[in-house]
Amino acid sequence: MYAIVDCNNFYASCERVFNPNLRNTPIVILSNNDGCIIARSNEAKSLGIDMGSPFYQAKDILEQHGVAVFSSNYNLYGDMSRRVMRMLYDFCPDGFTQYSIDEAFLNLAGMGTPEDLHLPCIQLAKDIEQGTGIPVTIGIAPTKTLAKMASKFGKKHKGYQGCCMIDTEEKRQKALQLFPVEDVWGIGWRHKAKLEYYGIKTAWDFTQKSEAWVRKLMHVPGLRTWKELRGIDCIDIEELPHKKSIMTSRSFQGEGLSQLADVEEAVANFAASCVRKLREQHTCCSALTVFAHTSRFRTDLPSSYLYRNVTLQVPTNDLQEIVSTAVKALRAEWPNHQYYYKKAGVMVWDICRDDAIQTALFDPIDRSKQAALAKAIDEINRKNGHNMVRVAVQGYRKNWHLKNEYISRQFTTNINQIIKVKTD
Ligand SMILES: [Mg+2]
Repeated sequence: MYAIVDCNNFYASCERVFNPNLRNTPIVILSNNDGCIIARSNEAKSLGIDMGSPFYQAKDILEQHGVAVFSSNYNLYGDMSRRVMRMLYDFCPDGFTQYSIDEAFLNLAGMGTPEDLHLPCIQLAKDIEQGTGIPVTIGIAPTKTLAKMASKFGKKHKGYQGCCMIDTEEKRQKALQLFPVEDVWGIGWRHKAKLEYYGIKTAWDFTQKSEAWVRKLMHVPGLRTWKELRGIDCIDIEELPHKKSIMTSRSFQGEGLSQLADVEEAVANFAASCVRKLREQHTCCSALTVFAHTSRFRTDLPSSYLYRNVTLQVPTNDLQEIVSTAVKALRAEWPNHQYYYKKAGVMVWDICRDDAIQTALFDPIDRSKQAALAKAIDEINRKNGHNMVRVAVQGYRKNWHLKNEYISRQFTTNINQIIKVKTD
């Protein structure tokens, strides 16, 4: 079973922690430079205030309804996220994977039957709210797509007490029948019209189509969503859709890594992978989180959980800048004692499009020069493979190399690994 733990209206909730008198007041959060609305409390949502609408256009309606307006405070949100994530890690150290700034997955395998898990998870939601001030909803199900669906039901209905579980066939069917197909993770609005044309309105209708039909209409990604809805666990956390943030994290082989140089190299590569994704979708980030943690299986070793947020002055998708920021953040947190880190990751967030960037007046970096260099690097890497041109700290030693003992060869992208038709 998987649990997804999702903070409710995260940015608005962070503001409420330190302004408890706003508990029932509608709240909106503005993007960098107070451009548009990027987060809303439930009350603001029900006033019909749209996500992404420009602040100046919404000003009248906000004033009319006494909506509290905040500029985004990424230092605060990053730190509140750290507190929530730390509690989730403590609850389930080996199954814990942070997925975005305000969501994490817990792989609950080995932690008991669904009945065993239900009360502890309700308690976990209560503990997090009490400990951090942030309300969360937990969705539990046999697949990640169903868990996300469960969390949406959990948010809607107070009766679940913050934890909704889809653990029987009966509940699965009922949930699917009540769930609009376009709200399913991985389907979205893009496919809505197409599916509607075939009379598919709910997630249940979708699962009633044949495998061949789904493959033809929505190809492999759609097919995997179809399988997940039918209870077959087949999507990796890495492959789930990301909107708010981009995360790259991995577990390390063996007992983990104890040397800064090794973790540094891993973190540099994770950061580079985030940059590649940012650049592919023409976006920039202005906040970055680096983390690393130990495993609970080694009870003989002391445990450690490193976590550091950095906010960047100017939104960026520059390789050098993001890699060096990530490495510096890791170095700043690196402890004096020796620990064996089993997992590390980099998350970039506060993402915006790369064509609408407001620069800082005293920005020490020559952005146009940097952009020209980055473009050249992209071009070389596109022709010659990822990471052909890299930042030195990304290294080649790969002591951090991942748990991928079962990986097949890079048949199509690495000249040294192509299939040999005839051996000499
Ligand atoms: Mg959330």
